[in-house]
Amino acid sequence: MPTLSLPAVDPSVDHAIQAIVAGASEDATCTTDLAAGPWNFDTRPGYGPGSSMGDVIRVGAPRQGELPAEYREAGEDELDARIRAARATLGDRVVILGHFYQREEVVRHADYVGDSFQLAGAAKGRPEAEAIVFCGVHFMAETADLLSGPDQAVILPNLAAGCSMADMANIDEVEDCWEQLADVLGPLDVPDADGLLPVIPVTYMNSSAAIKGFVGRHGGIVCTSSNAATVLEWAFQRGRRVLFFPDQHLGRNTAKAMGVPLERMPMWNPRRPLGGASAEQLRDGQVILWHGFCSVHRRFTVDQIDKARAEHPGVRVIVHPECPMEVVDAADEAGSTDYIRRAIEAATEPTVFAIGTEINLVRRLAAQHPQHEIFCLDPVVCPCSTMYRIHPGYLAWVLEELVAGRTPNRIRVTDDVAEPARAALERMLAAKPR
Ligand code: SF4
Repeated sequence: MPTLSLPAVDPSVDHAIQAIVAGASEDATCTTDLAAGPWNFDTRPGYGPGSSMGDVIRVGAPRQGELPAEYREAGEDELDARIRAARATLGDRVVILGHFYQREEVVRHADYVGDSFQLAGAAKGRPEAEAIVFCGVHFMAETADLLSGPDQAVILPNLAAGCSMADMANIDEVEDCWEQLADVLGPLDVPDADGLLPVIPVTYMNSSAAIKGFVGRHGGIVCTSSNAATVLEWAFQRGRRVLFFPDQHLGRNTAKAMGVPLERMPMWNPRRPLGGASAEQLRDGQVILWHGFCSVHRRFTVDQIDKARAEHPGVRVIVHPECPMEVVDAADEAGSTDYIRRAIEAATEPTVFAIGTEINLVRRLAAQHPQHEIFCLDPVVCPCSTMYRIHPGYLAWVLEELVAGRTPNRIRVTDDVAEPARAALERMLAAKPR
């Protein structure tokens, strides 16, 4: 049995949670259910234990069949060895992609580690791989399917790994919103005298392929947390307003930094007529914000920042732009996961960093940069529920299935959705900062 070599700072969130549950650590976790294998929750409603466990799961969300007992019962070392052996057998036929927020026990097997868009690009860069095993969540696997070759199979190791924020904007609600906006603003495909359309739809990468397809069909565009300002500028050059979904916080934080006043950012709550706004607010709006949020980044607060500053004078506070506006305003910097990673890498002097993003990434950065003190702003160990559902047991299972000549958990986007969704992604790639 191979020995796992652990760095001086253990990046494993699972180890931290197991220690809390065993009483060997004084840290706190948001739920002790996290110590159990995710297969205990696959058939139950909800997103599972962790940051989005309180969110309402979308009707018809994919469910995972039962993981065979041999994977549920295997220990960490055995799974690690089985994953390595299957990997070695498959060779270049498979590429494993790992999102920054994945468990350490999964990420250590990834050929590429990055954010969702970087990983989709990595999938595109390996056309010889027959299978792309995407260790992330459902919308990311869909994006990889959109950008990969037609004969490549994109595999999501656990189908129950959705994203509560992506699920907050479903296609029926968005189509309904579009119809209501047309009632208020007039025909949405007719430009005014200045050549501007009434509204340009902009979706965050963290959305379903169906939403990306909608955006593509209506002259809109996709954005990431790295390029949201460039994309909004692209949209303002083509439309009077933007409908931004699903993450209100990324939309608000980005538009505010670009000088859009808060009173010109009405919110669209899909459960209320006209989204809960007045017709006048919508007409006067510059950015209409969908009522969505990330439950991981919503946990960060101004009080946590104040505490970090009081306890660590000189601390550098960096948060993700999916955090609420007050938190972004109170931080020293805000940026995407890749921005956070690069900011830490670029720091030449030993620095204390307080980071507002998912804890798997924060602990990994702390392990990789022992010259700095790096901690998560939220003291409670509470990973993203759905990212956490990719347990190494599922990774071992899908790889061994591939070795056996079977292709489990393939994620496919239908052609009618894929074509406009790719158009929206290509517009994003072509949009350049001024
Ligand atoms: S961190 Fe937030 S946006 Fe990312 S997968 Fe989890 S719930 Fe979705």
